[in-house]
Amino acid sequence: MKVAFVFGTRPEVIKVAPVYLHFKKMNENALVIATAQHREMMDMMTRVFKITPDYDMNIMVQNQSLNYVVSRVVTELEQILEKEKPDLVFVQGDTTTAFASALCAFHLSIPVAHIEAGLRTHNLYDPFPEELNRRLIDIMAEYLFAPTAVAKENLTKEGIEESRIYVVGNTVIDALEIIKNSVDLEKLRKELIDEVEYFLITLHRRENIGERMRSILKGIKRFVEESGLKAVFPVHKNPKVREIVKQELDGQPNFVLLEPVDYTHFLALLDGAKFIITDSGGIQEEAPSFGKFVVVARETTERPELVQHGLGILAGTCELSIYKALKEACSKKLEKVSNPFGDGKASQRIYEIVKQKLQKGGI
Ligand code: UDP
Repeated sequence: MKVAFVFGTRPEVIKVAPVYLHFKKMNENALVIATAQHREMMDMMTRVFKITPDYDMNIMVQNQSLNYVVSRVVTELEQILEKEKPDLVFVQGDTTTAFASALCAFHLSIPVAHIEAGLRTHNLYDPFPEELNRRLIDIMAEYLFAPTAVAKENLTKEGIEESRIYVVGNTVIDALEIIKNSVDLEKLRKELIDEVEYFLITLHRRENIGERMRSILKGIKRFVEESGLKAVFPVHKNPKVREIVKQELDGQPNFVLLEPVDYTHFLALLDGAKFIITDSGGIQEEAPSFGKFVVVARETTERPELVQHGLGILAGTCELSIYKALKEACSKKLEKVSNPFGDGKASQRIYEIVKQKLQKGGI
């Protein structure tokens, strides 16, 4: 069997890495094709997992549009897939790289496997364009690796055949287990910050950029002024995010602003934090493994399991609701919780399913 893994952004590398590494461990013929949709942040993650892409399209340009990304990926991936002729193409999640790669493979009649299938907010514009991307990938894919029973239900409700769906857990839990077991988190944390008591912030979602992000930051500022708690914030590379953060937070004494950190350091920051406020998807899945409560700074979520299990709040994006949610988070103490998103064995399950199917000569 020959399989190809395509990725282009930070979260894709994190969630593809354990699956790819498992295929390699089992001595399978596995290729990595990088689009480099987000050059620097993707590279940070490939270094952590020691993955050298077999192909690197290096597509990123300044102010790239979504249509630019789709067109470059579709055209350039076609040449690679026609040369390599894999039996299966893996894509992960809901990025424009994942959608365009699935489309390209579909056009070439190469089966697609979707890692993290079935996530839905049921609002086509939130998150944008991810909700559309993941729906389209799920229509095209032959293997739908759903992380949870909720994700599977979303798929079956859309009329997708059960025979294509496998509930395997989220591969991000495999990724964090690999890292947690190989580094000293406390030592890594001390390399970055002196603070012993702090909460963590990440913000980057495209649909939050603008007034929503400003009001989230105003709510955070109000909480910090009142509580005196320090806030540690690795600021995303997107220039639009950085501009807003600069305008809202410049000169604020209780905020420690950092460059994005690599995955080992990020897990170290998460491990040491009191709680986290984020609009990220992956971080909502990781936080329960560290027993950290999550304030989700978004209007919608495709990960209802977090709130259902009492591990977070969907706070919306207005100043007052953010401020109130942070106050609530500050008083929460989570006991040791089992992570509803996965158990660290998703990659192994994915491998076994694919191996068995391909051996049988099925798709
Ligand atoms: N992350 C990281 N360094 C950072 C911030 C985040 O390694 O400075 C990791 C985080 O642990 C998570 C992933 O990046 O696994 C989330 O990426 P992002 O928020 O960009 O995307 P999303 O998960 O929302 O698709």
